[in-house]
Amino acid sequence: MSQRGFAKHSLAHTPTPLEPLEWLSRELDSPPIFIKRDDCTGLAFGGNKTRKLEYLLGDALAQNCDRILTAGGRQSNHARQTAAAARKAGIPCELFLENVSGTPHDFYRTSGNVLLDRLFEAEIHSVPSGTDLDAAMAERCEELIAKGGRPYPIPVGGSNGLGALGYVDCARELVNHLHERGINSATIITATGSGGTQAGLIAGLAKTGSNAEVLGINVSASEEIQRAKVYSVLADCCALLKIQTPDDSSIRCNDQYYLPGYGVPNEGTLAAIRRLAKTEGLLLDPVYTGKAMAGLIDLATKGILSSTDAIVFLHTGGQAALFAYESILFGDDD
Ligand SMILES: *Cc1c(COP(=O)(O)O)cnc(C)c1O
Repeated sequence: MSQRGFAKHSLAHTPTPLEPLEWLSRELDSPPIFIKRDDCTGLAFGGNKTRKLEYLLGDALAQNCDRILTAGGRQSNHARQTAAAARKAGIPCELFLENVSGTPHDFYRTSGNVLLDRLFEAEIHSVPSGTDLDAAMAERCEELIAKGGRPYPIPVGGSNGLGALGYVDCARELVNHLHERGINSATIITATGSGGTQAGLIAGLAKTGSNAEVLGINVSASEEIQRAKVYSVLADCCALLKIQTPDDSSIRCNDQYYLPGYGVPNEGTLAAIRRLAKTEGLLLDPVYTGKAMAGLIDLATKGILSSTDAIVFLHTGGQAALFAYESILFGDDD
């Protein structure tokens, strides 16, 4: 599946499977819960950034760029998938990795995604917390251009209109899954951070005329800020697709599950990770999907999701970061 008129560099195993979460549905006494396995996109442990990178790398290759730059938190899944995608496309990659306050001391700096970035021999620029990452990349691009280079900067999370096209593709897959299973109404729950995943899903559902709804569970920002972030990517994405931008009432998100802040799990996050491991043999992550699942569990328990025919949890990946959070999951005992 791909969007016509856009170069796409094949990286992902798609369509990803849709599976029932039978134990969890029974325990919560909720409408049936399904999981869309975008943690299984295949590239370097998978995750949601791979779909975006198919379009972003497609564009970089079409422009004959000779270096990929991107940025994120130190344990960025996006940075890891970008480093892998760049290798596969034969282009070197530079990562601007920001320290995130409140994260664990042990393992966080070197294990998990960082270990993988190093295996891909990405050039890592470690920057302090609060750095303007876009500005840092722009400055580096100028330096490279002055030396005759052709750098291709990818924004944090790969979240621009082009990257979001990856989730327009995913929305089409979801519409097909729902159709095959005879499901008429569904609520799709996803972690929402830089906003491209949610924006692409909304655009894709609008494009196919589906009535499925998307509910974002925020991982880093208040409702107001998150809605604005998603809207801006949604507008860019719809402009590329030449469709009308859906009304901003289509952007629904919930900021009750992310505090104390980005990259710092709370008790509900850890409980959700442990619960899904125990009931479904499924791995979530401490930064995104653990928070999104904590939201799903809480909303289903309160009966807030009872009127939909099915709940679809989008598994966006991120499990590589588990190894960086060992001290939070299991204390310092050995
Ligand atoms: C980046 C990421 C998200 C959030 O997606 P956005 O498009 O940035 O909103 C969710 N889950 C995981 C595991 C991620 O790495």
